[in-house]
Amino acid sequence: MSKIVILVGPPGSGKGTQAEFITKRFGVPQISTGDMLRAAKRSGTLDPKILAIMDSGKLVPDEAIIDLIEKRLVEADTKSGFLLDGFPRTVPQAEALDALLAKKGLKLDAVIQLDVPRELLEERLVNRRTDKTTGKIYHLVYNPPPAGADLEHRADDQPETVKKRQDVYEAQTAALLPYYEAKKLLRRVDGVGKPEEITLRLEAALS
Ligand code: ADP
Repeated sequence: MSKIVILVGPPGSGKGTQAEFITKRFGVPQISTGDMLRAAKRSGTLDPKILAIMDSGKLVPDEAIIDLIEKRLVEADTKSGFLLDGFPRTVPQAEALDALLAKKGLKLDAVIQLDVPRELLEERLVNRRTDKTTGKIYHLVYNPPPAGADLEHRADDQPETVKKRQDVYEAQTAALLPYYEAKKLLRRVDGVGKPEEITLRLEAALS
């Protein structure tokens, strides 16, 4: 049986951190459209127009993202399922995913909403750092990186862009919640607390 899970939550809600738990627990790959776009940016293959959109905190056009996902889902490692992190982000993307899964004869198991109040999100992102080599996510205060780590502060984690991304989430991505609720797939998980506590809540929500 394949396991197909979507993680939805505002920027800074901990999707990337918790994705690690789900991928280990179910042995499925994490598919993060944000990570895929950043990998393309690093290798210099990202369309400069798309790069500018990302760095400003806006959403990349649906067609470009759907194309990216469609190509990713033909890879062999997705056979036993996958975890989607950062996709879908708009209702048209969710509809495209439904069509894609139907074509493959697959079905979604659950959509997890990581719920974190807006006041907490900004502080998390402004202090977020990523290890350039391992991709591991740190928080300068709550989960400090080891000395000597080669760290990156994301271009879109600056205070003004963070605000913009929160607005985009509320205006476009939050519409996914009623969409999946109507399909009885939505499970809400409180995303406030220590990462380990949230992992336990996720485990309960997925069992
Ligand atoms: P976050 O940490 O805000 O959840 P991600 O790392 O998932 O962000 O994505 C970073 C940026 O990449 C987004 O602000 C957006 O510009 C672009 N992006 C990623 N996924 C999508 C998507 N599904 N649709 C449109 N744009 C996307």
